[in-house]
Amino acid sequence: MADQKASSKKYKFKAEITQLLDILVHSLYTHRDIFVRELISNAADALDKVRFEEVRGTEIADPDLDYEIKIELDKDKKLFVITDTGIGMTKNDLINNIGTIAHSGTADFIKQLAAESKESNAGPNLIGKFGVGFYSVYMAGTEVVITTRSFKKDEKAYEWRSDGTGSFTITELDNAPRGTRIEVHLREEALEFAEKYRIESVIRKYSNFVSFPIRINGEQVNTISAIWREPKSTIKDEQYKEFFKFLTNNEEEPLTHLHLSADVPIQFNSLLFIPKVNYEIMGLGEREIGVNLFLRRIMVQDHCKDILPQYLRFVRGVVDSDDLPINISRETLQENTDIVRIKNVLVKKLLSHLEELAQKEPETYKTFWNEFGRIFKEGYSDYANVEKFAELLRFNSSHHENAEGLTSLAEYAERMVEGQKDIFYLSGNNRDSVAKSPHLELFKKKGIEVLFFTEPLDEFVVTGLHKYKDFELKSADQTDPASLKDIKSTTDDAKKDEKKADSKKLGDLCTRIKNILGERVTEVRASERLTDSPAVLVNPDGSMSAQMQKIMQTINKDMKVPAKIMEINPTHPLIENMLKVYQKDAKDAYLTRATENLYYSVMILDGYISDPHKMVEEMQELLVESSNMYTEKF
Ligand code: ADP
Repeated sequence: MADQKASSKKYKFKAEITQLLDILVHSLYTHRDIFVRELISNAADALDKVRFEEVRGTEIADPDLDYEIKIELDKDKKLFVITDTGIGMTKNDLINNIGTIAHSGTADFIKQLAAESKESNAGPNLIGKFGVGFYSVYMAGTEVVITTRSFKKDEKAYEWRSDGTGSFTITELDNAPRGTRIEVHLREEALEFAEKYRIESVIRKYSNFVSFPIRINGEQVNTISAIWREPKSTIKDEQYKEFFKFLTNNEEEPLTHLHLSADVPIQFNSLLFIPKVNYEIMGLGEREIGVNLFLRRIMVQDHCKDILPQYLRFVRGVVDSDDLPINISRETLQENTDIVRIKNVLVKKLLSHLEELAQKEPETYKTFWNEFGRIFKEGYSDYANVEKFAELLRFNSSHHENAEGLTSLAEYAERMVEGQKDIFYLSGNNRDSVAKSPHLELFKKKGIEVLFFTEPLDEFVVTGLHKYKDFELKSADQTDPASLKDIKSTTDDAKKDEKKADSKKLGDLCTRIKNILGERVTEVRASERLTDSPAVLVNPDGSMSAQMQKIMQTINKDMKVPAKIMEINPTHPLIENMLKVYQKDAKDAYLTRATENLYYSVMILDGYISDPHKMVEEMQELLVESSNMYTEKF
C-alpha cells in the first residue's frame, strides 16, 4: 500500500453528481452488478490507452508491469478491489474526470432516472441500459478509495476518497505502481460482491471478451477471446463452435456462421450464427432471442431486438462497434442511425450468406428452412430486400411426391411448361388436402406444377411479392381455364370430350341446381377444369382466396363464407345421372337431395364445415334412400 502524505484537500462534487449519487444509493439496486462492468470497462480503457502510448514510443512509468486487471475479494473485510496497470490518473485527471460526468446527454439521463426511480420499479431497468460510469460503484459501496499513478514519468501518486455524499478528498502519496486501484467498501446489502462466483457471473455476462486478462484472487476468468474482432482467416472452425456454445449456454453446434467486419458506412465487427434448432418452437420465449450488442468488447445489451428485423430473430451472435454512442438506450436504439446502418448491412450479408448456403450446401439449407422457414417468411414485408428474399423461399409442390420435397421459385420457373406465363399456387390446411384438391385437376391435365401453400403466412408472402421475376403468382382456385387454353394438355382427355353432354340440357340442369342452392352460390356452370371430381367451388374473380377467407374468419368469427361459383363436371357419373333424372322430371326430389349433398361435400373439401347438423342430416337421408333402394332387391 502507498504511504500517505499530510497534504489532503477536500473538494465538493458538482450538483448533478450529488443528485446522481443520491439516486444511485437510495433508489436503484436490482442492477447493482452494473458497477462491476463499469469498473472493468474503465480499467480496460486505461490499459488500451497505455498500450497505445507504449506502441507509439512514449516512455512510460513501470514499463515492466503486465497489462492486466486484478480483482481481489475479501468477505471478512467486506472489500471489492479492482486494480489495473493502465494509464492511471494525474491529480488534474482525478478532479476533472472523476469529479464530473462528461457524457453528452447525461443531464437528461439523470432527470429521467430521477423521475423513473420515484415510480416503484422503473428506475432499475434504466440503469442497466444506460450505465452511469464510475459512480455506479456507490450502488454497492459506502466508501470508495482510488489510488492511482499516471503512466507519465515523474508524475506523483494520489489517493481519492469519498463516501459519495457530496465531497471527496485528494491526498498526495509517496508512491504507487502505475495504474489505478479502486477499493470498494461494500454496503451490507451488497456483500454478494465479495463472492467470487458472483463476480465471475457478472464478468461472464458483460466483460468476458475484454482483451486483457481479468484475474479474481489470482485466477484468470475471461478465457474466451473476442474472436469476432480478429481476422476470419485466423479463426478455426472449432473456435466458432466453442464460441457459439458459450453464447447459447448449450452443447449444440451452430448450423452455420457468418463472420464479418465492415468499415463503411459504419465500423463494426460481427459474428452471427444460425442455430440448428428453433428454440422459439421449443417454447423458449422471445426473451432469449436477438444478438448481443457490444461496445469495444464490453456488452451493453444482450438479446437486442433492434439490430436485426423480426424475421431474422433466430440469428444469434455479437455485434461490436467502436463508433456507437456509449449512452445508447433501448428506447433510442431503434431510431439510432448507426444501428440502422448496421442493420442494413447485416440483413444484406445474412441474405447473401443464406443464398450461398442454398447453392453450396443444399442439405444444410434444407435444415435451415425446415427449422426457420416459418419465421423467415415473415420477411415478405422487407421491401428493400424483396428480391433476395424471394430467391430464398421454399415450397412443397405438385412436383414432389411427398411433403418432404422443397422447391425454390427459380426451380419452379425452370420447370414451367411451354406457354405458361404465371406461377400457380394452391392453399390448404395440409399437403394431403391440397394435393387431392379438385382445383388441381386442370393443372394436372396440362402438366403445370402448382406450389402448395399449407401455412397461413404463405398467402401474405404472395401479397407481399406479387411477382417473381416476370411471373405473376396466381391462385389455382381462381384461375380461369380459358387463360390456359394455349397450353397443350399432356394427358389424353379427348375421349371424355366426346362424351360431352348436350350443352343446352346441361345449362338447364345448372339453372335447376342454382335454384336449389339459392344465395349460397353466385352461379352454377359446367366445368372446364375438372377431370375426376363431380364438382368444385370457384372463387369469383377478384375475391379473396379460400385460404385468406379462412384466415379472416379466424380473426372475425362472424364473417360469412362469401358465395362462390359451383362448377360441375359433365363427364362425371353423378352429374350424368342427375342429368338423366332432370330430363325425366325436372322437379324430382332426388335432384334436391343430390345437389345439397354435392354442395356440402365440396364445402368440406374447401375446408368449410359451417353447419355440420344440416350436412349430416342431408347425408343420412340420402343413405336411408339408397338403403331402401338396396333392400327392395331382396
Ligand atoms: P466513462 O468511462 O464513461 O468516461 P466514468 O465515470 O466511468 O465515465 O469515468 C470517467 C473518467 O475517469 C474516464 O473517462 C477516465 O478518464 C477516468 N477513469 C476512470 N477509471 C479509470 C481508470 N481505471 N484508469 C484511468 N482513468 C480512469
